[in-house]
Formats: sequence, structure tokens, C-alpha cells
Amino acid sequence: MTDKPFSKILIANRGEIACRVIRTARQMGIQTVAVYSDADRDAEHVKMAHEAVHIGPPPANQSYLVAEKIIAACRQTGAEAVHPGYGFLSERASFCAALEKEGIIFIGPKPRAIEAMGDKITSKKIAAEAGVSTVPGFMGLIENAAHAAEIAGEIGYPVMIKASAGGGGKGMRIAWSDAEAREGYERSKSEAASSFGDDRIFIEKFIEEPRHIEIQVLADAHGNAIYLNERECSIQRRNQKVVEEAPSPFLDAETRRAMGAQSVALAQAVEYQSAGTVEFIVDKNRNFYFLEMNTRLQVEHPVTELITGIDLVEQMIRIAAGEHLAIGQDDVKINGWAIECRLYAEDPYRNFLPSIGRLTRYRPPQEISEEDENVRNDTGVTEGSEISMFYDPMIAKLCTHAPDRLTAIDAMAEALDRFEVEGIGHNIPFLSALMAHPRWRRGDITTAFIAEEYPEGFAPPAPDAAQTRDFAVAAALLAHIQGERNARISGARFNQAARRAREEKVVRLAGRDLRVSISDADGAFDVALEGEPVGPVATSWMPGDSLAEIATGDRTVVYKVKPIAGGFSLRHAGIDLKAQVYAPRIAELAALMPEKLAPDTSNLLLCPMPGLIVSLHVAEGDEVEEGQTLAIVEAMKMENVLKAEKKAKVARIPVQAGDSLAVDEVIMEFEK
Ligand code: ADP
Ligand code: ADP
Ligand code: MG
Repeated sequence: MTDKPFSKILIANRGEIACRVIRTARQMGIQTVAVYSDADRDAEHVKMAHEAVHIGPPPANQSYLVAEKIIAACRQTGAEAVHPGYGFLSERASFCAALEKEGIIFIGPKPRAIEAMGDKITSKKIAAEAGVSTVPGFMGLIENAAHAAEIAGEIGYPVMIKASAGGGGKGMRIAWSDAEAREGYERSKSEAASSFGDDRIFIEKFIEEPRHIEIQVLADAHGNAIYLNERECSIQRRNQKVVEEAPSPFLDAETRRAMGAQSVALAQAVEYQSAGTVEFIVDKNRNFYFLEMNTRLQVEHPVTELITGIDLVEQMIRIAAGEHLAIGQDDVKINGWAIECRLYAEDPYRNFLPSIGRLTRYRPPQEISEEDENVRNDTGVTEGSEISMFYDPMIAKLCTHAPDRLTAIDAMAEALDRFEVEGIGHNIPFLSALMAHPRWRRGDITTAFIAEEYPEGFAPPAPDAAQTRDFAVAAALLAHIQGERNARISGARFNQAARRAREEKVVRLAGRDLRVSISDADGAFDVALEGEPVGPVATSWMPGDSLAEIATGDRTVVYKVKPIAGGFSLRHAGIDLKAQVYAPRIAELAALMPEKLAPDTSNLLLCPMPGLIVSLHVAEGDEVEEGQTLAIVEAMKMENVLKAEKKAKVARIPVQAGDSLAVDEVIMEFEK
């Protein structure tokens, strides 16, 4: 890259995407300006940029969303262009127009295209006119709850109730009946008003067994437009993507071409320029329907970059500077397979609800960058960073790329095993378990995958027999290494004969006792399990290390290790086991110890996440029925309806609407 289209650009965003844009700008020799709120003074994007401008207090509507502050920062620093990232001001036509008036270039499409595509109702009409296949539904606005039920009935259940201004899966609900249509309308409307300041709602058919497949497009200011193949994003929770891949395991070449051609037609219909994404919902017969067009860089753009070798941020910058697309449709290839996992600060054990706090430990796996093998981690945090309640809970995007899908999945599983995050709830155990899930590995997925496979929420998978044995060997081995080291520290005489002797251990895990014997054998260990030889096992683990790589033959398994009293807590592939390691005689005694019982909380409604009580729907003394709405809690701009799990009588409500609660704080108490 020799020519540079701009000498200085400002990035009107934060977190991983700001870092991502800065990285390419730097490679292009472009100076970068970051902006930051009080909450982000020490953030990574601020450190990475050449300059940084403070733009106000933490709430986004007083900092990152204030167009005037961004424009003032451009004037102050002489930035010629602004990259908006995603979210925030990226799809705000008025911001783009305001920049234009100042003679500052917006690195994205023109205001007219943003406006046309930013509204789901308008964009659907334009798409239909451009010959794009759209979801059947009612093309108008819904006026009230009764109207919602009436229209839903006409379309035929199930339906999807959506906010026209929606994004990020917010303001959207499925309804299967008139009652759900009415309640869904009210909830979506209120969520849309608070998230987007626009409460217009529409309704369309809910496509069953849907897969979310989207087409990346690139278009320049001279009428050239191409598509960069598809990404599949069917692994979603709360209508928001968690895992994406490119290409899609579901598309054939013909469907891909048809979707690509329609996407390019839509881009041309709105004189689109820049990178954009046309999202489709695809049914089981490969019928595809337009959902929306995102007129910005997409969160999951890295998987496309990995299979095409095209840097989308670079293309956006060049297009904004008026350059011609240097890539033709025939230059776009599919090289291998790429997977992206979004690491969220959210607790998989609590229905994926947001978690906040300080990253006391943050060690991503080693990145790799080869033609056919990549491990890429896009992130905006480091160890010690604070995950605040003000912004999106995504902490990193981990991507792997390999020649084929299963190799990419295995590489992801290993990268996740090596990823260390502590201090906050996070979804790594869930992502790890997913990588081992047979349905996912077969590519047999729909957007309902998480809801179908984890109906009661995520619980760590139980180990199978082979994994149980692996965990037992690992625990015994770590205890053996620790024991040797303790013996050396305590000054016990180093006795070669004793070292060579077999050490017998009993490992108690997953409710079982397994006998493991270990002896040192020239740089490795000779291990037997329940009397059967396991063979030579090697590890370089030392007491204090938080990762243990254990090699048996040509198979290496990575465990996260945490010492606990009498043993280790081990995690691998999303499986989390506590292993107690005893000398055989002690194991007999330990078996006689009573188990501790967890306190009974079944008569309490606990706050499932740190959040704000929006409203209380029952009073002390009320009798409630199963499924009745008890309270609504807002966290990270999502309204969560808490319902009664069984018939009960409300004994006490120690909180009021407007209260801010910590996780597990009591919202109400029922009579026993
Ligand atoms: P993608 O399709 O790229 O995953 P999403 O629609 O999930 O994108 O949104 C990407 C990010 O932008 C998310 O962090 C989301 O919360 C945020 N976002 C999306 N739409 C809006 C909007 N209208 N206003 C503010 N933030 C938004
Ligand atoms: P957002 O702007 O929040 O990204 P989308 O319209 O793109 O909203 O929808 C987000 C997700 O919701 C889709 O990926 C899909 O899983 C689901 N979805 C949206 N509309 C439908 C529909 N009509 N039928 C089935 N699923 C849908
Ligand atoms: Mg979408």
C-alpha cells in the first residue's frame, strides 16, 4: 500500500471495532484520531490512536452519539474523514449530512442510501421494487395492540413483531397467538422507544426453521458493485448473533449467485457506495427472503476477510476517497472456511444475561496469520479493563480460518480452551461446548438452535467416559507434579528411587472415584488408569500455571487449571469439573464426609442480572398464577419480563420501580 487516500481520519467509535479500524488505517499510513468518554480514558482504542479527543461523560447519548462533539473533534485535529464503525452514529443519515456540510468525508454510504435502508419498512418496499424477494407481511405501521392482533391473525401465526428502526435484535418478538401479539407489540414498542427513540412497529410472517444468511457487498462511487459471498449467522440468542461463519454450509453455488445478484441489484437501486450487508432469512427449502440491509461495516466482517483475503476497512476507506473498486466479481474467491465466536460479558449459566466488572485476567490465545491457517482475535480490552454497563457487552471476536469447516471448528475449540478470562461472567464455556456439539458440527442449524438445544439455559455438558478418564489422568498428573515440587521445597531428600516408584492416587470427579498410578519416565510420565496402561503422558505444566497442555500419544488436550482445596478445578471443551485427588487411604475416609447443601431460594424472585426495576406488576398479598408477569427489569437496554414459575402468594416486595439492583438481590418473596 503506497498511495494513501487520506492523511488523517477520526474513528467515531470505541472498543474492538475502533481498534480494528485503527489497525488498517495505520497499515495504510494514515494518522488516526480516537474519541473517548470518561469511562474509556484508559481504553485500548485511545492508546492505539495517534491522537485522542475527550467527548464527554459515559452515557453514549452524551458522548459517542453526539454528532456535534465528533465534528468538533474533527475540526480540532484536522481529520479529513470519519469512520463510524458499527452501532452509534454509523447508520445515522443526519450525521453523515452534517459531516458533508463541514467538508468532512463519511467513510460509508451517502445519507440517501442510509435513510432508505435504515428503516426496515421503507427498505423492504425498495427491495421488493428492485426485484429482491421479501418476507410476506403487512407493509404498513401497526397502530395499537388490537391492530397488532388483527394483522397478525391475517398474516397467520407465527409472526414476527419488529421495530422499524430496530437493530441489534432489539425491539423484536415472535408471537404465536393474539395474546402474544398484543403483549409483544407493547414490549417491542417500549423497547424501541427507549433504544431507538422511534417506536414504529410492523409485523411480518415468522419464517420457520430459519437460517440467517447474509451477503457482503462492496460498491464504489462510480457504479461498480460486487458481492463477497455469504456469511451464515444462524447461531443466535435473543435474535442476536453469537457465532458466524463463511461460507455457509447450507448454500449451493446457484443459490449463492442468486442471492448475490439480488444484493447487488439492491445496492445499485439505492446508489450504494462502501461496504454493506444484505441480510436474508432462508427457509429449509433454500427459499430466501430479504430482512434488512445494514449500511455499515458488520460485526462479523472478519470471516469474509479471512476467506476472501480482502480487507473491508481498506476498501471502505478507498471508496470514500473516490477510488475505483480494484476488485472485480471474478477476483472474489472462497479460500477455506472461517468461524467467528463473539465473546460476550454475559453469564451462560444465567440465560446469557449481561455481566459487568473488571477483567482480572484476560489472556487471549496466540494469533496466527498464514495463508491457510489463521487465529485472529479482534478485541478492545486488556487485562484490568472494566466492562461497564454503558456499552455493548461484547469483549472480543475470536476467529479461526482453515482449509475446511471441521478443521476450523477444531481450531476454534482449541483457541477457546486457551482463552483465559476471569473477573466477569463470560460465554467461553458455552462457545466451547458448542464447538463439540454434533448438530453444529454437521452444519444442521437454524436460528432456533440455542433455544432448542439449551431450553433450560446452558448447563455445562457432562463428560463422556473417555473425557472422564482424560480429566482424571490430568488431575492426578497435576497433583503428582505439585507433590514433587512441594517435597523439594520442604527439603525432603531427593531420592531417585522414590521418584521412580509408582505413586497411587484416587481421583474423585463427576461422582466417581478413579484410581490413577503415575511414575516418572524420562521426561514424560508413565500412567495407568484403573490398572490399564494409558501410555506415556507429557506435560510442561508447573504449579501456578493456569493452562495445562497434556499430550498423550499424538493427542494434546488443553485444560484451564484452578487449584482448589485437595485438588483442581479443570475446564476443557466447556466441561467444568472439580477433581479431588487423594492418597488411596484418605479417599476411603473422604467418602464418609457429608455433602454440603446449597441454600433453598425457591421462594424468592432474584434479580437475574445487575439492572433497573422498570415496573412491578404485583403487590404484597397478591396470589399469582404460573406465567404471570411479576416485574420488568432493564439491563443494557433490554427489557426482561420476569414471570412466575408457579402459583404462589407474594409475601414481601422489598424493592420499588426505579431501584437499581445487583445480581441475586431479592425482588420479591413468596409464602412457602
Ligand atoms: P450485526 O448484524 O453486524 O451483528 P447488529 O444489528 O447486531 O449488527 O448490531 C451491531 C451493533 O450495533 C450492536 O452492538 C448493536 O447493539 C448496535 N446497534 C445496532 N443498531 C443500533 C442502533 N440503531 N442504535 C444503536 N446501536 C445499534
Ligand atoms: P436486527 O436489525 O435487529 O438485526 P433483523 O431484521 O436483521 O434485525 O433480524 C434479526 C434476527 O431476527 C434475524 O437474524 C433472524 O434470526 C430473526 N428474524 C427476523 N425476522 C425474522 C422473520 N421474519 N422470521 C424468522 N426470523 C426472523
Ligand atoms: Mg440484522
